Amino acid sequence: MQISLHNLTKRFGNTTVLRDVSLEIADRELFFLLGPSGCGKTTLLRLIAGFYQPDGGELRFGPRRMNDVPPHERNTGMVFQSYALWPHMTVFQNVAYGLEIRKVPAPEKLERVNEALRTVRMEAFATRSPNQLSGGQQQRVALARALVIRPDVLLLDEPLSNLDTRLRLELRDEIRRIHGETKITTVYVTHDQQESLSLADRLAVLKDGVVEQVGDPRSVYRRPANRFVADFIGETNWIEGEVAAREVATTPIRTAWGILQSEGDSGMAAGTPVWVGFRPEAVQLTDHSENSFASQLCRVNYLGAIEEYVLRAPDGTLFKAFARNPAAVLPTGHDLRCSVRRRDLLVLPRTESLPGL
Ligand code: ATP
Repeated sequence: MQISLHNLTKRFGNTTVLRDVSLEIADRELFFLLGPSGCGKTTLLRLIAGFYQPDGGELRFGPRRMNDVPPHERNTGMVFQSYALWPHMTVFQNVAYGLEIRKVPAPEKLERVNEALRTVRMEAFATRSPNQLSGGQQQRVALARALVIRPDVLLLDEPLSNLDTRLRLELRDEIRRIHGETKITTVYVTHDQQESLSLADRLAVLKDGVVEQVGDPRSVYRRPANRFVADFIGETNWIEGEVAAREVATTPIRTAWGILQSEGDSGMAAGTPVWVGFRPEAVQLTDHSENSFASQLCRVNYLGAIEEYVLRAPDGTLFKAFARNPAAVLPTGHDLRCSVRRRDLLVLPRTESLPGL
């Protein structure tokens, strides 16, 4: 089911929580709404579910305008952060509930509940009550309950936030598998960038009720539209610069660290103030001569899979670098030349202020 949002606006009292949100979510897509707490993700999900009415704009499922369609006529399934299972009912009864409301005949009900429980791999738990299940198992049941009605649209509101890291990773894989099998158009709300990068077909990054960028995970991560998106979706080191010249294949940027070359024509005239950004994992801890700069190691943070280095450039700017499985841990105070490939440099017009590292 294709979902179209056209200039959707939502206000609570005098506060505008969503402002002219326009999105096209394709049929069968696993689409993420990502953003910090309070940016309006849940409100947007609730507008799609029909729990809220928009104050402006239009919502369509396929060609059908949904603005005034009540929630129970939208055929959406919803899963919440808190599993919201009925404690006095068995797993089977919890999953069957939506079919009872729809007056589905008993034999079909049995078949569909079993099918939904099989999909989430919980068929062996049908007679248990929710309090005899782990958090991960309860969330599987909540998923089965949403799937059993064969929804046109599945809405997931931070479904993994209550789970510990291991279960979260396990259920992430399950959600990917279930979406692959069912191909139900799914809108998934989270503030966890890893979750969205690893699962999404496409994602929208929201800030203060406004969509900042829409794209597939790789392009949003590698080519963020602005500083907010770059910082929200991963760590970024920033230094000030200005465009040294307008060229075709490269853009030279004058910075306190010397001239840095970025890939391609930035489209910006010589003298334009810019931020130059690069991810910690893009820093090469050896001098590859291009885009190289002196630095001194200030701090080492051991993070298991990676070693995180905090380095100081000669102008005093601190930046981070990641080393994966380093052969030897470098001592603090160590001088080293680092480099960043030109394709890993991000150049954005300098219109916003720079937070500290
Ligand atoms: P979180 O990740 O913390 O759940 P969110 O991005 O989902 O945040 P929303 O729950 O959509 O954010 O809330 C967006 C803004 O709207 C917040 O400032 C919130 O306080 C406000 N808000 C949400 N629901 C209501 C309501 N029913 N009445 C008044 N204000 C509301």
